[in-house]
Amino acid sequence: MALVNEHYLKLAAGYLFPEIARRVAEFGASHPEQRAEIIRCGIGDVTEPLPPSAVRAMQEATSELADRSTFKGYGPGTGYDSVRAAIAEGDFRSRGIAVADDEIFLSDGSKGDCGNILEILGTGNRIAVSDPVYPAYVDANVMFGNTGAALAGGGYEGILYLPATEANGFLVDVPDSSVAPPDIIYLCSPNNPTGTVMDRTRAERWVEYARVHRSIIFWDAAYEAYHRDLPGVASAPRSIFEIAGARECAVEFRSFSKSGGFTGVRCGYTVLPKELIAYTRAGQPVALHPLWTRRWNTRSNGVSYAVQRGAEALYTAEGKREVAALVDHYMENARILREGCAGAGLRTWGGVHAPYVWCRVPDGFDSWGFFDHLLRNARVVTTPGAGFGRCGEGYFRISAFNSRANVEEVVRRMRALLGQA
Ligand code: PLP
Repeated sequence: MALVNEHYLKLAAGYLFPEIARRVAEFGASHPEQRAEIIRCGIGDVTEPLPPSAVRAMQEATSELADRSTFKGYGPGTGYDSVRAAIAEGDFRSRGIAVADDEIFLSDGSKGDCGNILEILGTGNRIAVSDPVYPAYVDANVMFGNTGAALAGGGYEGILYLPATEANGFLVDVPDSSVAPPDIIYLCSPNNPTGTVMDRTRAERWVEYARVHRSIIFWDAAYEAYHRDLPGVASAPRSIFEIAGARECAVEFRSFSKSGGFTGVRCGYTVLPKELIAYTRAGQPVALHPLWTRRWNTRSNGVSYAVQRGAEALYTAEGKREVAALVDHYMENARILREGCAGAGLRTWGGVHAPYVWCRVPDGFDSWGFFDHLLRNARVVTTPGAGFGRCGEGYFRISAFNSRANVEEVVRRMRALLGQA
């Protein structure tokens, strides 16, 4: 008798984005004349074409594969040396952060990495996440058996939810000593969904906390490219490895999805330092770097050659300029949305170091109610905050991943709907 992984049966109904898609499809079916007018600012998917240097590199790589003399078969499971070197140098060493080439592990994106990394850790680790949170962290841990049942009001038994609220500026801090310390802490900065960026002092507190409690921080920097060196936040870390001691207690996730527009191409990477350890139940320390290497070499044959060459091209001088232009495009969208929403009378956060603007719903609505209101009356799709956790209730997220014309139209419609000048 084949047994099923019963942890999957704990998953609460409907992942957020399928539910949004269902409501949008339902609206489109009942209002076919308005279907073409719908503007999607819900899911965080890029809209602009790939950087030309990445396209060229992928085309050239494909041509190499078409020629017997340059053909390549299986590559290294953890990524080609030249790509790992370009990343370690481009994203870390050139910024004064010590990361070795073989501490970079190429993957098909960080959504998978955030869950796959659990394979090398024991079951039963207590997980901490912010609330609201990027839902994939939670669901991966449910599937892996690190939680109890779904709770009636949202969330899962056994997860430590750290409220990110207006009171703390949507930035989570270390729990006080009355709280049993979590073993694994997911931190996302720049943050999805709130668009906030964690300051250095808080990040230092987290590293200290993790070291004291022998916990591991999973630092998700999928939106690192959106981090702007502006006054006041110049000291906010782009990488957790800027913080002293982080090499002993952190893994970092990075993605080319939002920097190089690779959401469809699929490429990201983890940084796992050689100093990082976890413990056996008997308390013996075990280095995780060999385990993660083994995991990749056993469970994967790595990312496709052409895609890796495309990612590598993002580190050339031309590639960097093209990435910067893409990011500037989305960040100008974020500014227009942030100011437009504020002008329509909404309270807003984020959108300065992240392609997301986090808004309070107007009085009289809850998150899903306002989602439906915007969809029906402005034909604009957003993401209801409640979909990211209990503390997201009362808020919604607008994604800046769109064309300029669409973003300007969204602002016009919001202002018209909400009755502000
Ligand atoms: N982490 C966060 C916080 C995200 O918002 C996303 C995608 O939206 C990802 C990771 C996944 O990125 P990838 O496309 O690399 O899987």
